[in-house]
Amino acid sequence: MPIDATQPYDDQNIFAKILRGDIPSKKVFEDEFALAFHDINPQAPHHILVIPKGPYVSWDDFSAKASDAEIAGFVRAVGHVAREAGLVKPGYRLLANTGTNAHQEVPHLHVHIFAGRQLGPMLSR
Ligand code: AMP
Repeated sequence: MPIDATQPYDDQNIFAKILRGDIPSKKVFEDEFALAFHDINPQAPHHILVIPKGPYVSWDDFSAKASDAEIAGFVRAVGHVAREAGLVKPGYRLLANTGTNAHQEVPHLHVHIFAGRQLGPMLSR
């Protein structure tokens, strides 16, 4: 079920459990501000999720409430992960589903990195 991007943070969400180490993930990168890991159900040859370490439900929540340091650290982490994976030259796509109409499923901000094939049109028509 898609989540409501305005809901309060739920620390039992699956990505909070991954951050705490309660459940495993295939980690790609970690620093003070972000964790990156492989999506469990990849939609492209490269499908990596990058999440901030802080408790933010969505892009809306993060952009409104995170500190400048958290925002800078997270944005730099997304770029670093894509660069280190060799995705800049072939190209990649970022996606941050936010709330109901975008079908956000997990109520902890995540940016998808998709790459490794022609990704097609921006949205299904
Ligand atoms: P979204 O629809 O933007 O909220 O995307 C949620 C993404 O999380 C989907 O692509 C799922 O495949 C992925 N996902 C859900 N559970 C896990 C998990 N335990 N480890 C890695 N990825 C997950």
